[in-house]
Amino acid sequence: MKRKKFLQTSSVLLAGGMLAPYMACKSEPETVPVPLKNWAGNYTYQAKNLRSPSSVQDVQTMVKNLGRQKALGSRHCFNDIADSPENQISTVLLNQILDLNEEQKTLTVGAGIRYGDFAMELDKKGYALHNLASLPHISVAGACATGTHGSGMQLGNLATPVRSIELVTPQGDILNLDRQHPDFPAVVVGLGAFGIITKVTLDIEDTYQVRQDVFQELPLTALAEHFDAIMGSGYSVSLFTNWLDQKVSQVWVKRRMDRPIDDLGHDFYGAIAATRNLHPIVEMTAENCTEQMGVPGPWYLRLPHFKMGFMPSGGEELQSEYYVPRVHAVDAILALEKMKDQIYPELLISEIRTIAADENWMSPCYQQDSVTIHFTWKQHDKEVRALLPMIEAELAPYGVRPHWGKLFSVNPEDLHKRYPRYPDFVALAKKYDPEGKYRNPYLDLNIYG
Ligand SMILES: Cc1cc2nc3c(=O)[nH]c(=O)nc-3n(C[C@H](O)[C@H](O)[C@H](O)COP(=O)(O)OP(=O)(O)OC[C@H]3O[C@@H](n4cnc5c(N)ncnc54)[C@H](O)[C@@H]3O)c2cc1C
Repeated sequence: MKRKKFLQTSSVLLAGGMLAPYMACKSEPETVPVPLKNWAGNYTYQAKNLRSPSSVQDVQTMVKNLGRQKALGSRHCFNDIADSPENQISTVLLNQILDLNEEQKTLTVGAGIRYGDFAMELDKKGYALHNLASLPHISVAGACATGTHGSGMQLGNLATPVRSIELVTPQGDILNLDRQHPDFPAVVVGLGAFGIITKVTLDIEDTYQVRQDVFQELPLTALAEHFDAIMGSGYSVSLFTNWLDQKVSQVWVKRRMDRPIDDLGHDFYGAIAATRNLHPIVEMTAENCTEQMGVPGPWYLRLPHFKMGFMPSGGEELQSEYYVPRVHAVDAILALEKMKDQIYPELLISEIRTIAADENWMSPCYQQDSVTIHFTWKQHDKEVRALLPMIEAELAPYGVRPHWGKLFSVNPEDLHKRYPRYPDFVALAKKYDPEGKYRNPYLDLNIYG
């Protein structure tokens, strides 16, 4: 069997300044002073202790001995989903590349590793992932737990290439679940409700190059008329808009170089080819962004919008994101465009993406090809929270599902009705975690409530 094992040193992990709060902490029993904030700084975790185990055995001991607890990834959620009234168990030290299986075409990694920490290594070995989110700074298990996604009409979210996981159950036992296991579609987008995932095995494919072309000022009428053609014009396409002037400010088209490529020309459905690299928030420096202008590069340096080692997005911000069935994409976008006078004053930028349907029970794309309408907000908590119910009311006719890791205010009863496997998910979570070790105010409100 052609099989390679290689370990990754932790040096790459030290490159990211955002890990600084953890660096004093090696492993149990040392604990890090709290309070600790999420990446955006808009939420202060209430957990009294933060532990950072460095081995699966450490995780098992901790899980068994501690009461209320929650896994903490790279802290990129905007709400309290990763919080616990008592203990957070950071996966930051479970950060190794564990196994590249070239025969099976899989990669096994520690759950806490960030995509940007292994993507280059994977590419060097000749392999790639199918897609990435807008940023590579997030942990694999944390991203999968909330159904984090990139864009692509044919591309599922980041949990869809997960072939198997190793879970430390609330009792401290190790459980391996693969795609054939009946519980797998619940646990993989599990919202942290089932225990601590310690290893993730991902499907990989042969490496590929991508070129990224950006077009500016797409007329909204053209988008409404040609939505599928525009979103299908590349392997992964993102639209950025501030909702003003009946225009989409930027169209980012990411195309694989190993597939047929048409010349998109300078006039793309009325949008004009950009003449320099751009940041989605046009006032910000494009230095933080992946290379554009049609320059081919490896998948991991083109599929995300933001470069590892640079600040993604706007920094001081809030985020919300809403999924609607793709068949309603244009109606949903036009409905929100009517709210531009309320939205614009609180907005940094909006992004529109597509994601293919999947079978994971609590995935917002469960059995539904989806379009997502995302908002990067100014960090004005009160004003943004006042807007969310209005946006959600506009999108309610389309059965809107919010991103689990961002801000939303959808009534839990309505939320549950939009997930056909919701009752099964709750029953299974209670079976795995009868003592409620993984329950927190977020799950109590949105899932158990
Ligand atoms: C700048 C920025 C850009 C973003 N871009 C995108 C984007 O393009 N697409 C998108 O969909 N989202 C995006 N997000 C949202 C974000 O990536 C997700 O919400 C993701 O879940 C964050 O992962 P994390 O590792 O930081 O998880 P955390 O916030 O640390 O945790 C999230 C959840 O995962 C659980 N969890 C974490 N690790 C484990 C584990 N080992 N076992 C069990 N449960 C675990 C936690 O308990 C919690 O419930 C963005 C966020 C930011 C800040």
